[in-house]
Amino acid sequence: MKSILARLQRMYGRKPWKCWGKGVDVLVDTILSQNTSAANSDAGYKQLRRRFKSWNQVAAAPVEEVERHIRVSGLSRIKAPRIQAILRQIKADAGRIDLQHLAEWEPQRAYEYLTNFVGIGPKTAYCIMMFSFGMKVFPVDTHIHRIAMRLGLVDAKSTAEETCETLTPLIAPEDRYEMHVLMIEHGRKTCRARNPQCDRCGLLQLCPFGKRRATQRSARRA
Ligand code: SF4
Repeated sequence: MKSILARLQRMYGRKPWKCWGKGVDVLVDTILSQNTSAANSDAGYKQLRRRFKSWNQVAAAPVEEVERHIRVSGLSRIKAPRIQAILRQIKADAGRIDLQHLAEWEPQRAYEYLTNFVGIGPKTAYCIMMFSFGMKVFPVDTHIHRIAMRLGLVDAKSTAEETCETLTPLIAPEDRYEMHVLMIEHGRKTCRARNPQCDRCGLLQLCPFGKRRATQRSARRA
């Protein structure tokens, strides 16, 4: 994994950890990002923050209003009530809509708390833990899952959760954030779902999928 990380660093530059926002901000942002593009998710998050001054206001608003403001992010009829239910439950648990106390918790406790909410699965929980609190976890999204399969790091039938379980112990804790961010950038720019750019990929020497494609292309040209 060190070799993969070093090559990705050469391709896209170093990505030291930075805090992406408070726990609740990242939580809502990550729920909005489920099953949509980064652009649509960002647009919905910005609209929501422009319309409501606080998470308390979001929690107390009519669900249709929340839904309207996040419509661009897709699945708004599901996401709006889920976000409101989570915000209300956080308030019931902590006395206010704030998750900053999770920074003091053991990662396993934070994970169990977060995954108790409907709408927060392993990936969303790990994103909150990593991006808000710098915990040494490794969320696996669709890009990372695809790249891991192409590189032969996991079985082709693995689920994203299984890929997460397999890869996490293989990556040094201090490298997990950077590996996550770089693999997503790689998935967006080079190792795309359709038409991956293997010819100009710095991982080609390590990649069975890319080598197979190169061989097939040469055979077609011959
Ligand atoms: Fe993806 Fe191709 Fe690079 Fe392999 S060689 S990681 S398939 S872009």
